[in-house]
Amino acid sequence: MNKIVNYVNGKKNNISEKFISVYNPSTGEEISKVLLSQKEDFEDVIKSSKDSQASWSNTTPLKRSRILSNYKNLIEKNLEELATLVSTEHGKTLDDAKGSVTRGLEVVEFACGIPHLLKGEFSQNVGSNIDSWSVRQPLGISAGITPFNFPAMVPMWMYPISIACGNSFILKPSEKDPSCSIKLAELFTEAGLPDGVFNVIQGDKTIVDLILNSNDISSVSFVGSTPVAKYIYETSAKNGKRVQALGGAKNHLVVMPDANLSQAVDGIIGAGYGSAGERCMAVSVAVAVGEIADELVENIKNKASKLKVAPWTDKDSDMGPVISKEHKEKIENYISIGIQEGAKLIEDGRNYNIQGYENGYFLGPTLFDNVTKEMTIYKEEIFGPVVSVVRVKNYEEALSLVNDHPYGNGTSIYTSDGEVSRNFTTNTEIGMVGVNVPIPVPMAFHSFGGWKQSLFGDHAMHGMEGIHFYTKLKTVTSRWPKSIKSGPEFVLPTN
Ligand code: NAD
Repeated sequence: MNKIVNYVNGKKNNISEKFISVYNPSTGEEISKVLLSQKEDFEDVIKSSKDSQASWSNTTPLKRSRILSNYKNLIEKNLEELATLVSTEHGKTLDDAKGSVTRGLEVVEFACGIPHLLKGEFSQNVGSNIDSWSVRQPLGISAGITPFNFPAMVPMWMYPISIACGNSFILKPSEKDPSCSIKLAELFTEAGLPDGVFNVIQGDKTIVDLILNSNDISSVSFVGSTPVAKYIYETSAKNGKRVQALGGAKNHLVVMPDANLSQAVDGIIGAGYGSAGERCMAVSVAVAVGEIADELVENIKNKASKLKVAPWTDKDSDMGPVISKEHKEKIENYISIGIQEGAKLIEDGRNYNIQGYENGYFLGPTLFDNVTKEMTIYKEEIFGPVVSVVRVKNYEEALSLVNDHPYGNGTSIYTSDGEVSRNFTTNTEIGMVGVNVPIPVPMAFHSFGGWKQSLFGDHAMHGMEGIHFYTKLKTVTSRWPKSIKSGPEFVLPTN
């Protein structure tokens, strides 16, 4: 049985010996075992990160950029293998997995510009003969804790930028699909990254708690569910760490009566059911405004019922299984609750059987109509292939619905009215907003992050937010001896 261990100091390694199973979600079979690291593994990783830190932070940004450039080439060369690792353990289609690696690669490409991105500001003569400038310096050791749904892309939102800024980085990937993290680390070593700058430690809450309580770690980046994000934020802050903790979501897509219906329906189908709804930017609520509702529901139903649910090895698959047996049961339970609370089940994805894959964690696309804001399936994140249609009378009601929801990750509006669109982008209490695009995920040179219960902390991920998160600002004020008048000064200088 394949054993997935840590990656420390440029090689695979484990000290402790406790392992748990990793499953193939398409078959339900155990495919490997992953290490549940213990304190001794953590101490080994910390030592390696500390040993590498000083010389890496003194490596010139241009040299760091060249290593990142090599890394970019290696990721491109190994795209198929990385995507296959993602699909095998996560279950998403191969094209979707490739897309996710490519979105991560974009962050590496952005980080290649680090000499430019780290340039500070300079002011001559802030006072007589006094100059002042600011620089951004690395934090030291950063850590990242990541979820199962993007085992390549989400870690890549973090470590390329942290490392480009001169930090060492410790990644604690999800224990559900851990293989990709090791391949990503191996490729970085091959690209020329010094040993210990990027370490990977496998494990669960035990390791997370060691990270949060370590005096050697300066910052924590987290992506996962909201209750854990809140815990990460509070514990890291209590321990004096810089922290960004991204949580769950309930993304609304508003369809106005003047929307291009077929584009809106395609948007809902792709963003609602793609990756079996296991995306933090998945559309889980379609808000039908006014008279468009009946036609919208009818069209979603027609398209949803024709989607091909199959393992990633089937090239025609539109969506694969969900991540685990427990998660499948949780989603099925939400569907039952939806029925009990009075929502109209239009398309039922339960009891979805695929010949030869009877033990896989498959669910079909599920569609509810007449969902109201009091219902559990509206209030809670389901994180599965379930779309809820909420009918509202007008735009104002749609906007309130979006803004009153405690999550604030993403939202989108489909309309042909520029004024409505401008009002929506201005007044939504949401971090990432789309107009006639279903999943408004910002590119690497912008920043990714929600509002409200979807992000705890002050910085979003990647883009300039990432550069600022992974560096400390220092401002220097300098004057040379010959220009200094003799004698102490007792008043604050004003010019
Ligand atoms: P999760 O919160 O269960 O796990 C995330 C990470 O935290 C994993 O590495 C896990 O080992 C660790 N963890 C789990 N429970 C913990 C605990 N009690 N204490 C400390 N650490 C713990 O999330 P998941 O199920 O892996 O991922 C799905 C969730 O992630 C969804 O809620 C989804 O919306 C969210 N997500 C958010 C974004 C975003 O950008 N906002 C992106 C991707 C996923």
